[in-house]
Amino acid sequence: MFESQSVSAKFIDPSGKIVERRIEIRTHPITGRTSRVSFSRIDEKEPGTDSLPQPPPNADQTQSCPFCRPQVNSQTPQLHPDLSSAGRLTRGDSLLFPNLFPYGSYSAVSLFDNTHFVEIGQACAESYANSFINCSHYLAKVKQHDPRAVYLAITQNHLPSAGGSLLHPHLQINADRVATNHQRVLLQRANDFYHQNGNYLFSSYLDHEIAEGSRIIGTTGAWEWIAAFAPEGFFEIWGILPQKTSFQQVASSDWLDLAHGILNTQRFYRNLCRNGYNLGILVVDMPSSRLELRIVIMVRSNYAPWVRSDHTGFEMILGDMTTFNAPEQTAEQARSFFLMPSSK
Ligand SMILES: [Zn+2]
Repeated sequence: MFESQSVSAKFIDPSGKIVERRIEIRTHPITGRTSRVSFSRIDEKEPGTDSLPQPPPNADQTQSCPFCRPQVNSQTPQLHPDLSSAGRLTRGDSLLFPNLFPYGSYSAVSLFDNTHFVEIGQACAESYANSFINCSHYLAKVKQHDPRAVYLAITQNHLPSAGGSLLHPHLQINADRVATNHQRVLLQRANDFYHQNGNYLFSSYLDHEIAEGSRIIGTTGAWEWIAAFAPEGFFEIWGILPQKTSFQQVASSDWLDLAHGILNTQRFYRNLCRNGYNLGILVVDMPSSRLELRIVIMVRSNYAPWVRSDHTGFEMILGDMTTFNAPEQTAEQARSFFLMPSSK
């Protein structure tokens, strides 16, 4: 199930010495896609990672932000009456409303609270959990209104380097009758695996990882955290909620445990002087789905002047992610962030 192979590049380095550089090619046990770890690239000096970059210039410009109060009530759209009699959904201080620039049939935005800018790893766990719960309430309404819109996702882009267009912390929700690539492939793999083996795919993956040990990071409640074996992003970490296949099976306490794991991961990234990340969970909400809940978190290039993108021609044209550290190393570095009791 877990395959990797190595190739090496030989050349004369600038000092005149013949060198050999090893590149490991790993096959993703679930998708079959390959990714590469080019170990020597860790020596490449990446600009902008000596210290955590300064906050963005608009970090205190709350008056021009459409997500800040009071203007959020006049500058953001409201839900269609078919979906909800309330124009916007609330949970604690979280506010949810439609995405003005939708990606699919049911596209919404869930704010954490009225805090305009939050540095990586500094969010309040309760506000994160409330924002997730708000998303799941919205998705329950979508299900009631359009039972065929079963392809669901909750994602976050932190800072423009990760694709975020507004600084104000928020999650994006998407629900549609049409699957995305990952939803289509993962549903197929999870269901095929279940029919062939009688077991859930991510649970089996996790059993293998627990037995192997080198990529295990820790747990928060029922969520199990590991470094991805064949990462498709830098320092990619997964949180798996075994045998849960629908957002409606997730208890409030599970959402809070998820928030703690996300914040632990962010503090690890912050410790690496990185300020941007993407995260997301995808679900196919149909009774026959055996696709379990799994959050994926990865660092993006820092948001700072003249930092280069982490996606090069290799990723964009060839489709293989190339990182520079082994997932086992990621797990070793991240572990200590999961040992301390989760605080704010
Ligand atoms: Zn704001």
